[in-house]
Amino acid sequence: VAPAPAVVLDNRFARELPELAVAWPAAEAPEPRLLALDEQLAAELGLDPAWLRGPGGIGLLTGAAVSAGATPVAQAYAGHQFGGYSPRLGDGRALLLGELTGADGTPRDLHLKGSGRTPFARGGDGLAAVGPMLREYVVSRAMHALGIATTRALAVVATGRTVHRETPLPGAVLARVAASHLRVGTFQYARATGDPALLRRLADHAIARHHPQAATAERPYLALFEAVVAAQASLIARWMHVGFVHGVMNTDNMTISGETIDYGPCAFMEGFDPATVYSSIDHAGRYAYGNQPAVAEWNLARLAEALLPLLDDDQERAVTLAVESLGGFRREYHAAWLAGLRAKLGRPGDPGLAEPLVADLLDLLRADRVEHTSFFRALASAARGDAEPARRLVVDLAGIDAWIARWRALEPDPEAMDRVNPVYIPRNHLVEEALAAATDGDREPFDRLVAAVTAPFDERPGLERYAAAAPDDFTGYRTFCGT
Ligand code: AMP
Ligand code: MG
Ligand code: MG
Repeated sequence: VAPAPAVVLDNRFARELPELAVAWPAAEAPEPRLLALDEQLAAELGLDPAWLRGPGGIGLLTGAAVSAGATPVAQAYAGHQFGGYSPRLGDGRALLLGELTGADGTPRDLHLKGSGRTPFARGGDGLAAVGPMLREYVVSRAMHALGIATTRALAVVATGRTVHRETPLPGAVLARVAASHLRVGTFQYARATGDPALLRRLADHAIARHHPQAATAERPYLALFEAVVAAQASLIARWMHVGFVHGVMNTDNMTISGETIDYGPCAFMEGFDPATVYSSIDHAGRYAYGNQPAVAEWNLARLAEALLPLLDDDQERAVTLAVESLGGFRREYHAAWLAGLRAKLGRPGDPGLAEPLVADLLDLLRADRVEHTSFFRALASAARGDAEPARRLVVDLAGIDAWIARWRALEPDPEAMDRVNPVYIPRNHLVEEALAAATDGDREPFDRLVAAVTAPFDERPGLERYAAAAPDDFTGYRTFCGT
């Protein structure tokens, strides 16, 4: 099938960084069927949704028919997984099709996941199941709608191939769009090759694509590092504001652009508790909700180590510079976190809403494991004069009444609160229900969930189920990697 001549894919990554790119074709999808398509994203990319739904589009979305001149590649990267270093991870089941420049003139990666084994596959089958790919689709669409930087799901196509996990499952390919797929682990890989010219080319590529202002700084590579620190500090703060638990913050799953990547075992926190973990393999709670800022800082220290040869010829001086710049993370994270909480509490930009007031609220929420999303949304009613919706979620009524009295004295703005505290997020029980139905061939619950979470702040009649906490018998939720 001929691809649309309009779909021009550049191969800049493969051209500029051939040491990090292995040209590789996608596996055949015997019976491709489109399951989900983000038409708005398609339009932003200058792709016609009607064409994408047709045979040419399906060819692109499965990697079967990419335009002439495009070079699909598996990207090499290393990474610390749960603290242990793996020198060679790379795209085991993914391909970068190329860079696509949309209507706004910004080049973005078009990438496939679940497109077959590559030379980086190790023991894996290179495939992905419908459920986990739809999971990435709905959660990343929700994150984007919440205003959080993220890779974006363009489409999910069922392949018609069976994937063997604990049970046989229908297979799928996800088409994903990102500012790029450069990760901390990409720099770790380049550094480990021992080739300083490659490391420099990678850093220059990253500066050009993501942090161009660094190019004119006195120390461009230190400025690159500081730009990544800043982007991650604000990203992690945003996760904390919405109760997002990434679940697998390995250094290969942390981007240089500051976009959220790799929606494997992620979940949204139900009852507020910093120790919240959903991933079935995170036994020590390394990637618990409350640990995310500390882990991000740890990962950024690994990025700094990889960049050291570029920071100064004198490596001791390079370490001093890197440590100083890494110190910015805590300050920037804290400022972003507090600014976001002031907004959530209806006093955006008001230093009069002091940190102890926030800390006291979080102590109350933690003590009663109060439903995080519902509570903040309900609190706007308290700002309007009716505290009952918030009180209903709390056990310690004397505690919350006293706190609400202190907070209301600041005259919080309920409209401002409703603009930042979502009604609809991909609640864990709804995601599981939708994926189970879709795996059995019924896509309606999934489509309804996508519709709810892609307009997360607009409360609509008929969607009460999507705003409600999980039923009491939904406990012990577990998520999985690499499915
Ligand atoms: P993740 O936990 O998703 O960050 O993946 C870690 C590494 O495992 C990456 O190198 C992936 O490409 C690889 N991987 C995960 N699942 C598979 C699979 N089914 N087949 C091949 N490689 C995989
Ligand atoms: Mg990954
Ligand atoms: Mg993954």
